[in-house]
Amino acid sequence: MPLNDSLTRRFRKIVGRPNVDTGTAELLTFASDGLTLHQAAPECVVYPQSTGEVAAIVKACNRAGVPFVARGAGTGLSGGAIIDGGVIIQLSRMNQIIYLSADNRFAIVQPGVVNSYLSLQTRPYGLEFAPDPSSQAACTIGGNVAENAGGPHTLKQGVTLNHVLGQTVVMADGQVATFGGPYLAQTGPSFSSFLVGSEGTLGITTEVTVRLVPVAAGITTMLATFADPAGATDSVTAILAARILPSALEFIDQLCIQAVEAHLKVGFPTDAGAILLIELDTDDERSKGQAETIEALCREHGAIDFTLAQSEEERQKLWLGRKHVAGAMGKISPAYYTNDGVVPRSRLTDILQAVYRIAGIHKLKVANIAHAGDGNIHPLILFDPDTPDGADRALACSEDILAACLEMGGSLSGEHGIGLEKREMMARMYSGADLAHMRRLRNGLSPLGLLNPCKLLPEGARCGEVKNGATLPEGTWL
Ligand SMILES: Cc1cc2nc3c(=O)[nH]c(=O)nc-3n(C[C@H](O)[C@H](O)[C@H](O)COP(=O)(O)OP(=O)(O)OC[C@H]3O[C@@H](n4cnc5c(N)ncnc54)[C@H](O)[C@@H]3O)c2cc1C
Repeated sequence: MPLNDSLTRRFRKIVGRPNVDTGTAELLTFASDGLTLHQAAPECVVYPQSTGEVAAIVKACNRAGVPFVARGAGTGLSGGAIIDGGVIIQLSRMNQIIYLSADNRFAIVQPGVVNSYLSLQTRPYGLEFAPDPSSQAACTIGGNVAENAGGPHTLKQGVTLNHVLGQTVVMADGQVATFGGPYLAQTGPSFSSFLVGSEGTLGITTEVTVRLVPVAAGITTMLATFADPAGATDSVTAILAARILPSALEFIDQLCIQAVEAHLKVGFPTDAGAILLIELDTDDERSKGQAETIEALCREHGAIDFTLAQSEEERQKLWLGRKHVAGAMGKISPAYYTNDGVVPRSRLTDILQAVYRIAGIHKLKVANIAHAGDGNIHPLILFDPDTPDGADRALACSEDILAACLEMGGSLSGEHGIGLEKREMMARMYSGADLAHMRRLRNGLSPLGLLNPCKLLPEGARCGEVKNGATLPEGTWL
């Protein structure tokens, strides 16, 4: 059913005519996020510029009974920012750094600020925003908050949750609330923290107060090369067990190396079974000694080569390679599907072996990268979308890998979220009682179920009914 004209007119009044899209071609560009396997177009995209405009749009949706979802850059990998009909509230015009206090180490930003842009602006003050997803050149702070994003350097600094001090949020009914703030004297439960990672299902973040951390005075970047992937994963476990906390500890296997080298030629060894990219903040003598210990541990576990980046240029080249692994997959496969699972760090070798075994069962190739220090694996499952069951086999392979993560005491997602993609698997990770509590919280904050429906929690019987004009009895929404 097309959106009714009066709602579209209302949006135009709120944000101005050029900031409302209803054309078929424009809407198609919003039909998927980074996941791409799930596609569904909205009926309208609205581009607000302020908290007040977001609140007015949300209230209008509520009055019309129309579902809506917030969207940042659309780089999400779990289908979180797509909606089948309804309204996308696109936050890219809300892209201002509102306030920066270098002395107090915080910034207040709008949600559409791009992740890497924020650190670019704060580095002249010797500060940065620590969470650094590989998508950081495009993804937004609002999306990072919603997904509780991680990245190579969150091993030492912690994920987005650890860097959000407060938020202004437009709640599902259009009311505006502010939780937390830049200073320590906050009282009551930490509602801001509760919203981090809720995948845009409980409110729309319109301002974020983020913690900034000092840029490290010295950085040592190391590349350890292994003939056998197990040597690399065993080294990760050994380094962490030795009470050393690198700022990054990234695993890259042979297929990824070959794809990157075919794409960029950063100097990764193409005949290696796997490499570790290890980074250490080396501000003092003690940490300099740690670099030597890391080399010794890697060699003990079979490293055949161990080198240090000799310049900032060399360091940037190595990171260029790591951050472009996903993009390089196009060199070796027409399509791939990104898995995101977590295991205890001590089970890294076991899960990697399981991944290769499961790939064999499904007769698929899987290339592996991992934020290994966090036990966060990203098998990239290669498939041919032109074969009738290509995508289905990739999804089945991914499900088996996640089941193996759960069996090892891990989790369904380290950073990409549950979204549409994994919601049915939530029942394998949480008990019925756990899920019932989550539903109660969601029902309480979003009783009409119009905000980002059908995401995160297993599908309720009424999920499909949240379409234009459908009004649900209070409390029955999933
Ligand atoms: C190549 C590639 C590499 C990646 N690497 C990483 C990585 O290393 N680490 C990592 O964590 N992720 C990674 N991702 C996943 C993705 O970039 C992150 O999840 C990112 O945080 C999403 O931000 P976004 O602005 O694109 O959000 P979107 O995709 O637009 O939205 C994601 C979810 O957030 C919600 N949302 C967005 N903005 C708001 C808001 N203001 N208020 C409420 N809800 C909101 C949406 O409704 C949706 O549910 C990668 C993705 C790609 C394509």
